[in-house]
Amino acid sequence: MDSEGLVLRAEVRDAAERVGADEDPALRQPERDLLPEASVPDRTPLEAVRCLEDEERDAEPRRDRGAVALVAVEELNDAGRIAELTDALVEARAVDRVDQPDTAGGADRVRGAVDPVALALPREPVLELVAEFERHGKLLPVASPEGTSNAEIADKLESFAALLDLAGSSYYTSRAYRRAAEMIRETKAPVADLVRSGRVRELRGIGPGIEARLTELVETGRIAELDELESEVSPELVGLGRLLGFGPKRAVEIGRALGVRTAAEFREAAADGRLKSVPGIGPKTEAKLLAALAQAERPRPRRGLTLNRALALIEGVALALDGEIAGDPRRWRDSNEVFAVVCSGEAGPLLERFESLPQIVSVVERAEHGAIGVTVEGVPVELVVAEPERFGTELLRATGSDAYVAALEPLPAAPDEDGVYRELGIPFCPPELREEPFGGEPPPLVELTDIRGDLHVHTTASDGKATVLEMGEAAIALGYEYLAICDHTRNVRVVPGLDADDVRRQAEEIAAANERLAPFRILRGIECDILPDGSLDLPDDALAELEWVQASVHAGQRAARAEITKRTLEAMRHPAVRCLSHPKGRIINHRPENALDLEQVFEVALETGVAVEVNELPDRLDLSDVHVRSAVEAGVPIVCSTDAHSVRGLGNMRLSVATARRGWATAGNILNTRPLSEIA
Ligand SMILES: [Zn+2]
Ligand SMILES: [Zn+2]
Repeated sequence: MDSEGLVLRAEVRDAAERVGADEDPALRQPERDLLPEASVPDRTPLEAVRCLEDEERDAEPRRDRGAVALVAVEELNDAGRIAELTDALVEARAVDRVDQPDTAGGADRVRGAVDPVALALPREPVLELVAEFERHGKLLPVASPEGTSNAEIADKLESFAALLDLAGSSYYTSRAYRRAAEMIRETKAPVADLVRSGRVRELRGIGPGIEARLTELVETGRIAELDELESEVSPELVGLGRLLGFGPKRAVEIGRALGVRTAAEFREAAADGRLKSVPGIGPKTEAKLLAALAQAERPRPRRGLTLNRALALIEGVALALDGEIAGDPRRWRDSNEVFAVVCSGEAGPLLERFESLPQIVSVVERAEHGAIGVTVEGVPVELVVAEPERFGTELLRATGSDAYVAALEPLPAAPDEDGVYRELGIPFCPPELREEPFGGEPPPLVELTDIRGDLHVHTTASDGKATVLEMGEAAIALGYEYLAICDHTRNVRVVPGLDADDVRRQAEEIAAANERLAPFRILRGIECDILPDGSLDLPDDALAELEWVQASVHAGQRAARAEITKRTLEAMRHPAVRCLSHPKGRIINHRPENALDLEQVFEVALETGVAVEVNELPDRLDLSDVHVRSAVEAGVPIVCSTDAHSVRGLGNMRLSVATARRGWATAGNILNTRPLSEIA
């Protein structure tokens, strides 16, 4: 077997593992030792394997991102045999695209795109076919030989976004690159070809800046600015710097001035008294930094993490250590500062595993039964190793707020939390309610499984990524009974919006989907902008046809209290309006809550029956927990919505429900726990 074929094996094996297939003994080959130095001009097998290794380190399964590997077959002599094999690969759904065999230059050439997800389904035939290919010809490990695969381009853009973040660039810049990466992953057409033919800006989210980077990448295989950032920015130093209170740019400057790249080197330089040699660091700042470095208390990040990022971080660490998540994210806070994982087992090996995790760039404190590490973003994560008979005790202590835990101390020893509460003689308290001291009987909080439908989602008609039918099918898969399609109206401007004619055209698409999906019901809805004077952005006759109208303020969030309240109340009194979207308009870490007077909103809500939304988007979570509690107390109906812009977003209801739970909401408070007949 030739060595290039082995690389293909590596890709197939990797794909199979990713989707959880059993390992095939035939694939257990020491392929990495056998690779040639280089054989394909723009991507050597060695690089291909390196790329696979990167993927293996990646905690997020690639199949979620639609990764596509490519196979090239060269020097097949029998054209008929090639056609037969490629047809079989397509049939087996191992490839979703096969280029025409190219016989120019004496070599037959076939390329197909291998989709690892599809690969998992009929694995046996695929492996046989791959073996067939190997017997008949030569397999090349390349993506597209003259360019870069969509997955590789997306990887590059993501690394670029991460480094831009590290280097302290604007949130919007790095977000634009992240979104472009996500979009490129989901694009079926080869993006490199679009770049070459000058058509890449036809893809949503690709502006001139990103196009220039893509052109550079496709033409040269590199992004010069990315290489530069990579050589300058040390994630470890940036993480430590953030924890100590200086930004990434300053961390880079200080690192350069001291000639250090790691946290350990930084500490050493600080201990040697060299900090004050850095321009801009006087004796006062030096003393502050030394004190911060020595601080034994639990450090806090500079800024809280949004819930989705917090959960991704802490669930990743917990999974790697086989532990339980604790700290703020276990209470589902909207902004998270305290992170902990509680494990039981032998402390030594657990501490070592913790310190070698890719998420942890530096360890700031280490004790016998625990450690505190820091992520590249400067977020401290605590590891607690508990004796098995005290696991519940330590989990409870690491989960509750300081005030909640203090009120229950001294905590009795128990192997699980139920046991601790039993010993304390008080009812079990759901983690979401462990903020303020509380020893009473908690209400039966709403559960994710109580939700019967989603009443605020977008489609490709505005800024969503899926069609009505795709969203409907995904909602059925979630066990829902109904779904309201609420695309934007024209006034929103920054993204496409619908007018009355568009809304009527969409009605046909919805009717067709309903015919296919019955008894499931898709409601004709809209996310209608509230105009400055409180009127709505669609004519009354169009609104009257709709079954679910969300009213939203999108521009003018910083207006004075009287102004924004008057505008909102006016809209809520419109007979078509059923729910007020993201009422307080906040974007966590970027825009504070608006001045809207919720007391008046709740009064009008009770009068008109209009509900208020808990919007699930992780940087919104609006209404917030505190406001949900007021709404619950006022008896105002609440809707838990995802505001999903994709099929995947539809599956994220858990953040909205958790926020409602933090606001003490029961299923009775949440409108979309009811059957459709009681809603529309
Ligand atoms: Zn909105
Ligand atoms: Zn929306």
